[in-house]
Amino acid sequence: SAYLDYNATAPVRPEAASAVLDTLRVPGNASSPHAAGQRASALVQLGRSQLAELLRCSPNELVITSGATEANNLALRVAAPDGGQLVVSATEHPAVLEAARQIATDQGCDLTIIGVDRDGQLRLDELHAALNSPLPTVVSIMAANNETGVLNDIQEMAELTRAAGGIFHTDATQLVGRLPLDLSTVTIDMLSLSAHKFGGPQGVGALFLRRGLPVAHRPLVRGGGQERGWRAGTLNVAGIAGMGAAAAAAQAQLDIERERTAQLRDRLEALVLAALPDTQINGRSVPRLPGVSSMTFPGAPADAVLSGLPEVAASDGSACSSGALAPSHVLLAMGRTAEEAESTVRFSLGHATTKAEIDFAAEQVVSVVRRVKEAMWVS
Ligand code: PLP
Repeated sequence: SAYLDYNATAPVRPEAASAVLDTLRVPGNASSPHAAGQRASALVQLGRSQLAELLRCSPNELVITSGATEANNLALRVAAPDGGQLVVSATEHPAVLEAARQIATDQGCDLTIIGVDRDGQLRLDELHAALNSPLPTVVSIMAANNETGVLNDIQEMAELTRAAGGIFHTDATQLVGRLPLDLSTVTIDMLSLSAHKFGGPQGVGALFLRRGLPVAHRPLVRGGGQERGWRAGTLNVAGIAGMGAAAAAAQAQLDIERERTAQLRDRLEALVLAALPDTQINGRSVPRLPGVSSMTFPGAPADAVLSGLPEVAASDGSACSSGALAPSHVLLAMGRTAEEAESTVRFSLGHATTKAEIDFAAEQVVSVVRRVKEAMWVS
């Protein structure tokens, strides 16, 4: 079998699994003053500093959340100026798009959605136009797209936004732990991430909030004042320990994994293209994440392809919200037809992918796509 769905969730790294289990074995609420509580608190501090090290920020610039969905919601809620402008791209994950729609309504903001070209690259002229607005502005542009892996030049966009007096947030869920990122030199104001995309456990993530950023204190969750009041609730000690261990392992392996993953992804594409030359690879000519391949198989609906591939874990367009029947909004924004979008499968690789998995997947994909095309042609 082959597990090629890292963008949905990556296998938990052994270091992270051990950290979670070790932590679960010792009692302690990280807010308690007794020795047991302080041991839990030390584990939280370690996890937080491992994550901060990966991002090159300060540990106290991180608000621990339940994942990127919550981090995105919190970021937009605290940064969106009442009556201002919220700018997002058309290819954002629903955790930004849906949050932005709601917050724009709640806080009376104008919502500006920036389009992309056929390769999935942001239309910078539209960003420039939006930044020309006299309204106080928050821009949220993802670092790497979850469906295609297409990268945005977030450094450039952060600088443009800052130069125009706005606040810049990026949903970097698919980039963190896979490509280098240095918040000590890049002028990003806020950044969201989720541990399970880089080999940590599910259900934990963080929002980076740059120190001194002028945002409103509008937490989504109020209560005992944890996380300096930004996010109340007993800390997820095991989750944070696992996230930190995964961050440390990802950081140590980053260059090697990046290179290996790109080679394996290129091998998958070469094998599939050799046998199915009409396959279209979305975003292939622009900078992409090393481990993602979004393939359109003309004449072969993705649902039929995927149901013929039980031993190859991959996904159709709408990634994390699978089960959704609508064609991918990302591919539609890239100018694909609904039919093309519905004939697209996303393969995503990462730290534990092997050459054997790639060869197995390529062979399976080629034979199933051929079979589906024939069946469609006959019917
Ligand atoms: N943002 C992006 C780009 C994603 O790919 C995902 C994946 O699910 C999320 C946000 C949401 O992450 P989570 O479900 O862990 O909150």
